[in-house]
Formats: sequence, structure tokens, C-alpha cells
Amino acid sequence: MTYPTQPTASHFVNGAYLEDTTGTPLPVIYPATGHEIARLYMATPAVIEQALNAAKQAQAEWAALSGTERGRILRRAADMIRDRNHELSELETYDTGKPLQETLVADATSGADALEYFGGLAGSLTGEHIPLGDGNWAYTMREALGVCVGIGAWNYPTQIACWKAAPALACGNAMVFKPSETTPLCALKVAEILHEAGLPAGLFNVVQGAGEVGRSLVTDARVDKVSLTGSVPTGRKVYAAAAAEMKHVTMELGGKSPLVVFDDADIEDAVGGAILGNFYSSGQVCSNGTRVFVQKGIKEAFLTRLSERLRDAVIGDPMDEATSFGPMVSAGQLGIVERYIAKGQEEGARLVTGGKRLERDGFFIEPTVFADVSDDMVIAQEEIFGPVMCVLDFDDEAEVLARANETEFGLAAGVFTRDLARAHRMVAGFQAGTCFINSYNDAPVEMPFGGVKASGVGRENSKAAIEHYSQLKSVFVRMDAVEAPF
Ligand code: NAD
Repeated sequence: MTYPTQPTASHFVNGAYLEDTTGTPLPVIYPATGHEIARLYMATPAVIEQALNAAKQAQAEWAALSGTERGRILRRAADMIRDRNHELSELETYDTGKPLQETLVADATSGADALEYFGGLAGSLTGEHIPLGDGNWAYTMREALGVCVGIGAWNYPTQIACWKAAPALACGNAMVFKPSETTPLCALKVAEILHEAGLPAGLFNVVQGAGEVGRSLVTDARVDKVSLTGSVPTGRKVYAAAAAEMKHVTMELGGKSPLVVFDDADIEDAVGGAILGNFYSSGQVCSNGTRVFVQKGIKEAFLTRLSERLRDAVIGDPMDEATSFGPMVSAGQLGIVERYIAKGQEEGARLVTGGKRLERDGFFIEPTVFADVSDDMVIAQEEIFGPVMCVLDFDDEAEVLARANETEFGLAAGVFTRDLARAHRMVAGFQAGTCFINSYNDAPVEMPFGGVKASGVGRENSKAAIEHYSQLKSVFVRMDAVEAPF
């Protein structure tokens, strides 16, 4: 099969594509068919060495440019991505299996937003002037960290690459990015476009590989910061490895987020929010509200309307723009989801709809809803990362808030109610980094995104991300005489 905008080699290093076929072969599987559509090679130590060296060498000169000059290149890349949105969206669909209906509006466009936003911000990154007594004063300088490593998950390969590259580059850093081994294609195009937009060689490098390649990047002495998007178990390993060398980290990890629907909510909106928060991208979204707490009075009405609307899901060829629900990313992820569905049935949850694999090629499974789920069931406690919604009942606000927070995760949380005072009370009580009132899963670049508890450290997007890709230098300036004791 041929696909559009084919990257021409496995890696992108020092401003150009780079191939090294002595690496372990990395087949790229199109999730809608299960067929191999490309074969890349994982990075050898020689490739990793070239990438880190290139980044190290290029960084200081890049940091010495004015922020406006750096930003101009990022904004040019944003425009190029928007111009090429259709082909990049098709590539995202080949990489992930997500329907084109989604990728056309959620992936390259979101990456472009990040490049535009941080490109715009780059010229205004400054320190402070701090007046002190006796005419003395201090100032701070906001400096780049140096070489940053980005490591991606497989659900949003273009977006993740851009959400890490844009603030890193805006602040004057260089980056070596390792995409997930499951979706290696899109980040290569991001690198290609950044360089076409004028990014000097060496500042954004892409190397392929699995955990082993990630590990060798994280532990390298040239690396100053690691930003990981991935699962909590991987996060623990990467954070520990980075801590050993006192490196900066951003950890964007998994979740099992609560979505609370009170009986005064607009049912259509609440059902819409629950659909977006469970079935978009076939449920492969970290912030999904997979524990849907519905107040008892509207439980059956909610389930009825949810089942009706799920019948309108168009499951099929992701390249057909009418398709609204695609396959899982891989056979492995499909197997994980099937095992959780079996577990839910075994645990006594009520299967309301879905639950079956589709009789066709590719990794398709139906959108699945369990009701009568209790807090102690495995399907209510563990991140499934697939299209499986757990509906739980509740009586009152204090009870549901306590139950919503009864988890090691803290990525996101949502509430649907017409009582806005209650909505704000709930949000104040949620132990979560990213919250939604009468909505779910919006992630505009202007808003900080990230988790608390085991779901992560640091924030992506917004001005908050600048704090995580730069450091302050404080300078005390004495204007009067130095008084020494002797
Ligand atoms: P994963 O943890 O298996 O892998 C993530 C990345 O880490 C991959 O690139 C992998 O190769 C790499 N890796 C694995 N072991 C490593 C090691 N020891 N050192 C360095 N790198 C290593 O996650 P996944 O299955 O690719 O993605 C799904 C997970 O990602 C889910 O838990 C999901 O919630 C999470 N996620 C979080 C966010 C967020 O922003 N919070 C966004 C998307 C996905």
C-alpha cells in the first residue's frame, strides 16, 4: 500500500532524514486492515549518538537568537501544517487508525495551534527587574534548559510531537523526540516541516525505537530534561531515571477520570460529553472520563439515550469521512480491551451495549457500556484505554465527590449540572489537574493540561509550559559599597 506524504527514512537527524537498516526492523501496521504499510528500523546506538550530538551542538546558537526570530519559524511551520492538513491527517489515520473525520480537526490542527501559540509567546519570554533597598536591585533571566528529550504515546502522534516541540523550541532548547514504536510516522513529518520552515539543523531530531531507545536517551548526560507522554508504570521508570541525574521532567500519564452527571443536568449534553469522553479516538484518550457517575434519578433515562445515540456511531473504514468510530491502534491493545470486557462481565457488571469484536479485518471492537458498576470492580479501577464506559450510580454530592477521588490517578474530571454553584464546588473538590464543567475533553492550547497524583508532573500547553522548558537565573546587582566584616 502507498500512503501520502511518506517519510523517506526511519529517523530525522541534524536536519535530514537518516536511515540505518542495521537497527531492529519496526513494521508499521495500519490498524484498519492489520497490514504492514511501511517498515522502519529502530535507532542503533550510532543513530542515537548522532541525534544527541546534533542537538547539543545546535542548541546554544538557537538560544542566542531573539525570541521573535525563533517564534517566526514556529509560526511559519504552523501555517505549513495547516496548508497540508489533509495529507497530514491521512498520515495520522494510517499511523493510528483514527477516523479521518477526527484527524482532520484534532491532530495536525492541534499541533499547528501549539506552534502558533508558542511561536507568538517566544518574543515575550523575559525575566524580571526586582528593586531592592539602598539602590541595589536584582534581575532574573529566563534561560533555556539545553537538550530536551520527548517521548510519545501512540494515541496522538502529531499532537504529542508538537505539544513538546513547540514550547521547547520557543524557549531556546533543542529536542530529540522518540515517537511510540506503534505510531512512528507522524513525528517525522513534523520534523520535516519544521526544517522546511527554517528551523536550523539539529534542533528537532526524531529517532525510532521502543523502551530501550527511550531509556538510553533519558539516561544520557547531554540531556537536561525529559518530557514523557505514556502510562503510569513507564512514568515511574522514566521519572526515577531522570531523578538520578537531577534532570527536569514533565510526566503526562494515564488516568481513570470521573465524569459526574447530576439529575438536573441537560441529558443530551451529558450523554454527548460521556460519548466524547469515552469513545472519541476509540476511547484511546488519556483524560477520558471512564467512570461515569450518574445520579440515580436519571440513570435509566441516561442509559436509554446513550444506547440510542451509540446506534448512530458509524464504524468502518477510517478513510471514509462518514466514519465516526475506528479500530483500536493495535492487536495488542485490542486484546487488552477484550480482556477487560470479559473481566467486567465476570465481575457482574451489566453489559448495556457493545462488547464484541467486529467480523472484519483490522482491530475493531464495538463501543461498550457497562452499568451497575461498583467502585471495587477492576474495570472501575484500572485504565483500560479503549472504548469501555463504566456507569456507576450515586445518591448525593458529598458521596460522589469522595468516590470520584478514590483513585491513584488525577488527570481529569468533569461535572454536568445546571447548578453552577454546585459545579464549582465539585471542581474545587476534585483531585484532578484538568476539569470540565458541562463539557468534556476540550484541550485548547491556551489552557494548561496535565495531571496530579500518579497522573503526572508539570503542565503542557499555555504559559504554564514555559516554566517547564526554561529556568531562571537570578542576578543581584549591588550599587553601593560592599560591607565586609574585616
Ligand atoms: P507506554 O507507557 O507503554 O509508552 C509510552 C512511551 O514510553 C513509548 O514511546 C515507549 O516506547 C516509551 N517507553 C517505554 N518504556 C520506557 C523506558 N523504560 N524508558 C523510556 N521510554 C520508555 O504508553 P503507551 O501505551 O504508548 O500509551 C498509552 C498511555 O499513555 C496511557 O496510559 C495513556 O493514558 C497515556 N497518555 C497520557 C497522555 C497525557 O497527556 N497525560 C496522553 C496520551 C496518552
